[in-house]
Amino acid sequence: MGRMCRWLVVCVALVAALAGQAQAAEKINLLIIDGQHNHNWKATTPVVKDALLKTERFTVDVATTPAAKDPKEDWDKFRPDFSKYGVVLINYHGQAWPKEVNEAMTKFIEGGGGLVFYHAAVFSHQGWPEWNKMMGMGWRPANFGDRIALDDSGKVVREEKGKGLGSSHGPAHAFEVIARDKEHPVMKGVPDKWLHVKDELYHGMRGPCENVSILATAFSSKEMKGTGMHEPMVWTVAYGKARVFVSVLGHDAGSTGVPDAATLLARGTEWAATGQVTIPVPAEFNATPGAKPDTK
Ligand code: ZN
Repeated sequence: MGRMCRWLVVCVALVAALAGQAQAAEKINLLIIDGQHNHNWKATTPVVKDALLKTERFTVDVATTPAAKDPKEDWDKFRPDFSKYGVVLINYHGQAWPKEVNEAMTKFIEGGGGLVFYHAAVFSHQGWPEWNKMMGMGWRPANFGDRIALDDSGKVVREEKGKGLGSSHGPAHAFEVIARDKEHPVMKGVPDKWLHVKDELYHGMRGPCENVSILATAFSSKEMKGTGMHEPMVWTVAYGKARVFVSVLGHDAGSTGVPDAATLLARGTEWAATGQVTIPVPAEFNATPGAKPDTK
């Protein structure tokens, strides 16, 4: 090897090392909000946090609200500084937040901050109109808003407010998830379909359904007390400058930490923050290739 070549090798190594450092410094700051829920948030927040930290793409803080019985003074102290974060992940359903928190959150989102709804976070803040627009659709009664689902041909079918079913799910079971937009950054490299572990298959999500793009669905069979439609499991919402990502997979720690649900949540969170996805799809994404969904 000539002297020039050796220098070149040294330079390339140096540039690579510096680039690595720059990338390490550019972690996305994520805030998880929890503290009240009709789900076991104390069990699921650590699973979500670990899954995201494992990607080495995020720093993760958790803001835990006061409990429902806590005095008002505790709420006066709950003022997350959203400006420190690139994306906020919601693992919360409970009391309305103080007006100041809603205003700070709205300012964050309107400034282009990312927002992620995870599983039953779609129950939250039904009485906050902008929140409903941010999530696109959520766990609401039939008279609350429209619903969208896909028919067998993959066509989006819109059902008007007040017609048909409200939000629910049948008994938890293992079900197949179908990728619907393989060109979306979150879905690139994800299998066309895969089996998700025993979990709740939400149906009849209701809301304004504005600027919603469905990334993945699951067939909600009538045998499993479902709708006979392909129900949205993963979707995005374009809300002004902000990117919103929603995954309703993951009722409990087990069904949240599995590779498919955890990978989609991590990739969706990265996308909500940056518009791009660098987190790889692991080989074990489809943990049970060839396995069949539960039918009863
Ligand atoms: Zn649940």
